[in-house]
Amino acid sequence: MTPNDLDALLRETRTFAPSEEFRRQANYNDESIYEEAAHNPEGYWAKQAENITWFHEFESVCRWDPPHAQWFIGGKLNAAYNCVDRHTLTHRKNKAAIIWEGEPGDSRVLTYDMLRREVDKAAHMLTELGVKKGDRVTIYLPMVPELPVAMLACAKIGAMHSVVFGGFSAQSLKDRILDAGSKLLITADGGWRRGKVIPLKQNADEAVEGTPIEKVVVVKRIGEAAQAGMNPTRDVWWHELMENAPTKPFPAEPVDAEDYLFLLYTSGTTGKPKGIVHSTGGYLVGVNTSMRTVFDLKDDDVFFCTADIGWITGHTYIVYGPLSAGATVVMYEGSPDYPDRDRYWAIVEKYGATILYTAPTSIRMFMKWGPQYVEKHDLSTLRLLGSVGEPINPEAWMWYHKYVGQERCPIVDTWWQTETGCAMIAPLPGIVTTKPGSATKAVPGISVDIFDDDGNPVPPGHGGNLVITKPWPSMLRTVWGDDERFRKTYFGKFEGIYLPGDGAYRDQDGYYWIVGRLDDVINVSGHRIGTAEVESSLVAHPAVAEAAVIGRAHEVKGQAITAFVILKEGHTGSDDLVAELKQFVVEQIGAMARPEEIIFTADLPKTRSGKIMRRLLRDIAEGRVVGDTTTLADPAVVEQLKSQYKDQE
Ligand code: ATP
Ligand code: MG
Repeated sequence: MTPNDLDALLRETRTFAPSEEFRRQANYNDESIYEEAAHNPEGYWAKQAENITWFHEFESVCRWDPPHAQWFIGGKLNAAYNCVDRHTLTHRKNKAAIIWEGEPGDSRVLTYDMLRREVDKAAHMLTELGVKKGDRVTIYLPMVPELPVAMLACAKIGAMHSVVFGGFSAQSLKDRILDAGSKLLITADGGWRRGKVIPLKQNADEAVEGTPIEKVVVVKRIGEAAQAGMNPTRDVWWHELMENAPTKPFPAEPVDAEDYLFLLYTSGTTGKPKGIVHSTGGYLVGVNTSMRTVFDLKDDDVFFCTADIGWITGHTYIVYGPLSAGATVVMYEGSPDYPDRDRYWAIVEKYGATILYTAPTSIRMFMKWGPQYVEKHDLSTLRLLGSVGEPINPEAWMWYHKYVGQERCPIVDTWWQTETGCAMIAPLPGIVTTKPGSATKAVPGISVDIFDDDGNPVPPGHGGNLVITKPWPSMLRTVWGDDERFRKTYFGKFEGIYLPGDGAYRDQDGYYWIVGRLDDVINVSGHRIGTAEVESSLVAHPAVAEAAVIGRAHEVKGQAITAFVILKEGHTGSDDLVAELKQFVVEQIGAMARPEEIIFTADLPKTRSGKIMRRLLRDIAEGRVVGDTTTLADPAVVEQLKSQYKDQE
């Protein structure tokens, strides 16, 4: 074995073929689509581009001048027109576009026709505030309908939006405003989270000091309780401007396919977030395609994506994907445990959601709480489930399958990134047999591979650097203001080959298994072990809800494995359980994966998008000063862990 190999340690043997019933009704149920797309990717994407309305047809499909790609060259279009206006000219005019549920229980439905009026008024309003094509508008809003409306209004004008997740602090918002150079900020007087008010306006006031922001538009979500002081020369109420905005249609600006649609910062799991830039034409074709392929979208589907729009998953699978495809999306404002732990299931039941898309971190939380919350509700409308954000542990996959999918719904585990725009590795649910924990294989039109450190593809059964070998429409175009960082980060290792930064291996059937970030790979006595493998083994133990595994410097082995473990409710940590868990990992994987130490904890350091930040756990275990924590959801967790680590060591 070479040191480049990420051992194929977990041997998952369970497989789930699509049922005959699902296969028959699926948009894609003929395997030949893979071959056809691989044979002629440009032809495949040109065909997919027919699902988008172009004001001016593109003249050529792709120009690849690594690391810069252009797609649909010469084409002119408008993203908001594609997501809204064009549907109002069809049978979808009065179809629900967005079904919104507020945390306190209020709700709102916007049909495509209503959405068009809102977007047009907002576009008039932004224009009157001086927003022009090419400008950046920073949006710092809770999950309220005004958020997609504001994004689409920017798109209608040809301005770029930069959405900053509402959970971020004033400083994080300020950094992102400065980096983007926005002159306008859209925020709210507050947002609801677990029944409490998030003081967005106060954060915004602090953030805009010393930035180029000239005007702040404030959505009234909370009212009295928010105590959002308005600065008379700078702040304006959204609802007042909207009331006074012209009601006539706003003509969609025809933008070039390569004109930028938006800027979005990555989650910051590995360090300083990058301002990822997406183009209009390529992004829209990519996300629209994946609704039909990966999510098997039909006109009568009700698509519920639980992500926040502040992350790429929300941009792509709440706004641009579903709306460009004319779907009905469910958008929920608040927390999954408010007022009780069954909120998602209550929403699925209330609106008859047919497709549910959520993250492993949530699924593990549901497992921790127990199935009784799911079982309280009628989930019979669901027909397809999705997962995104982290590797899904096979046991979490099985739980999702059993309790949420009721052994009826296929699961699409979708591997992708802010940078890729839409799902890259994921099954087409009517074709591909799934294996719990594997995102299966690249979607049609995408070429992935696994390279060793010298840039050679590794044979089946081996691991290494996951790579994407050909350009694709929805790929990032650059890092905002830092093309050199773009070049170095993604194309610096292999010439003309995109490097996502994740480790993976490919099994004998050609299935891909993401084993974690390359930076997190553990090297025990020359064995390279992916964090996901050991974590998944721990999560398979009946007492464990969640685990984070890191490699800590060790004199003899190079690195030793430290596991941080969250137990399921009703279990308590003990020396016996430590011994049992270590033995459990040895039996499942092998002696080289035996954790040197196991620390029980109530919480793990996670990004605000819910991803485990192993880098910080390494800092704690190696007694270093803990690195950048600005993207952490709860900084207190680090302090707790530090003292706990000392106690248990
Ligand atoms: P940063 O790049 O700033 O460190 P980030 O990588 O966490 O932040 P995102 O773009 O939101 O920001 O996350 C993409 C990453 O999430 C992927 O590179 C991968 O590590 C992980 N990921 C997403 N989906 C999956 C999946 N289905 N299976 C395994 N890993 C996944
Ligand atoms: Mg990343």
